[in-house]
Amino acid sequence: MASYDIRQYGDPVLKQVAREVERVDGALVALAEGMVATMYEAEGAGLAAPQVGVQKRLFVYDVGDGPEVVVNPELVEVEGEWLHPEGCLSLPGLRLDIVRPARVHLHGYDLEGHELSLDADDFLGRVFQHELDHLDGVLMIERLEEDARKQALGILRDRALGLDTRAREARLVTAGDERPV
Ligand code: ZN
Repeated sequence: MASYDIRQYGDPVLKQVAREVERVDGALVALAEGMVATMYEAEGAGLAAPQVGVQKRLFVYDVGDGPEVVVNPELVEVEGEWLHPEGCLSLPGLRLDIVRPARVHLHGYDLEGHELSLDADDFLGRVFQHELDHLDGVLMIERLEEDARKQALGILRDRALGLDTRAREARLVTAGDERPV
């Protein structure tokens, strides 16, 4: 099964808004299978199509119950607020405390065209929101408070220059054992 390179911070594809899927065909199924394989290889819990360079609105996830695919997802309701550490496969090594709604209701479609209507909280609710953000060209650093965002952007910039950012990362990065998405 084909697997993909995961696009990293700085790749312009991560900043673009992905397009609605108009047709589920063999190519889309193969893409979803390749995304699942890529997610497992990277030991992630979720992966959105733009992270493998494809501008389509779909993502895959597995929070321990097997792989799932959501096509044309939409958050129809969000509720509450929850500060929790989050990691991104496109921002390796940065596990950051991000505030997001605690509970979400997601609509979408599976690969057979069946409508999905999913309530999620805890880690799964967060995965859904993180992947939706990827489809809208938003990275988790943009969800940080301004100070923390500046620090994170400084680390990423200096990393790209080959500088040692470990001391600053140790101050910013928080603990957690959930897989990146
Ligand atoms: Zn991500």
